[in-house]
Amino acid sequence: MTAPTPAVRDRALGLSTEELPAYLYDLTALETHAAAVRAALPRQVELYYAAKANPEPEILAALDAHVDGYEVSSGGELAHVVKAVAGRPLAFGGPGKTPDELTAALELGVERFHVESAYELRMLAALASRVVPHSRVGVLLRFNLDLDAESLAGSSLAMGGRPTPFGLDPADADSAVSLFTDGSLPPLQLLGVHAHLASGLAAPQQLAVAESIVTWSQKLARRHGIRLAEVNVGGGMSVDYADPAARFDWTAYGEGLARLRAAHPGLTLRIEPGRALTAYCGWYATEVLDVKRSHGEEFAVVRGGTHHLRTPAAKGHDQPCTVLPAGEPWPHPWPRSEARQDRVTFAGQLCTPKDVLARGVPVAGLRAGDRVVFAMAGAYAWNISHHDFLMHPRPGFHFL
Ligand SMILES: *Cc1c(COP(=O)(O)O)cnc(C)c1O
Repeated sequence: MTAPTPAVRDRALGLSTEELPAYLYDLTALETHAAAVRAALPRQVELYYAAKANPEPEILAALDAHVDGYEVSSGGELAHVVKAVAGRPLAFGGPGKTPDELTAALELGVERFHVESAYELRMLAALASRVVPHSRVGVLLRFNLDLDAESLAGSSLAMGGRPTPFGLDPADADSAVSLFTDGSLPPLQLLGVHAHLASGLAAPQQLAVAESIVTWSQKLARRHGIRLAEVNVGGGMSVDYADPAARFDWTAYGEGLARLRAAHPGLTLRIEPGRALTAYCGWYATEVLDVKRSHGEEFAVVRGGTHHLRTPAAKGHDQPCTVLPAGEPWPHPWPRSEARQDRVTFAGQLCTPKDVLARGVPVAGLRAGDRVVFAMAGAYAWNISHHDFLMHPRPGFHFL
């Protein structure tokens, strides 16, 4: 159970039945959290927000004062972020960038491109000579580096250290850097290396990963007699849905990055978290439509479901939640359905057994009409959900 903030609780109780379900974002809580993250990081470490975690314009704007820039991974995100937070530094990443997307990014003056293959490098160089003929375009080469099993222990999503479509293979690193040193890519400037290798890592593992990325990058630079200005060690800071009170240890991570930075004077380190910045600021509030028993298990069907909040289905966890009992009197002529057992499984309105938000939640006495507020719904929640499946109405959005 994770208690909603007072602002979220008041709104969840204040909305009418017809206004549910609703996403409630506590922007003050978001700003407080983002400020604490920024304060834990050394000044020389840049913090970019990975917009794909939650690109709501209000979220992007609330983060504005606390981040150094934004990481976008598509032409759509690029256009959206430029509109929501104009004039902020951007990094454009992602596999399979199209010529149109790269052209748009060049026209917008995007500061740095995370290039994922040698083919993309040549495409970007050719487009840059045409679109911005008199500028140098900043490039970080994204690599899919090997990771030792120890640093990946506990990772929930590994993008690196195994065959994936992300980044360049380390075996191709020397030939890619040679394209810069032999003058084959005149409009491009190699700023450094980017690697986003895994998600769900705690601070010690993240630090081990960051250190191995930096060490590897500096060796690469030395082999080619060049100096790297930047290394971006990615996002993926852990968010524990099973233990909502647990937080990624930003203090330890910041101290570790300060040591790493001190060992490599002049190098700009950058991180680009998504989930760990915004997961905690969002709630999905709804109401219990029915409570019923099925083969010995008790189910509460709520208004809405995983077509709005796909996170528990996508990640296979129980979404933490809090019940706000409905007040009396019950407004209907029929009796309220009520839980008889101690534990209830929360399901949504979809006609699929996969539409489960949380299993075995201890909510004895739960009744139809009670409100339920699902926590940790601020990242990879609404924007990864299959909204149109079954054509239920969309939730409301409230930025508090
Ligand atoms: C998704 C992604 C991130 C953010 O990952 P989180 O797990 O949300 O912190 C950062 N960088 C890249 C390249 C990504 O694809």
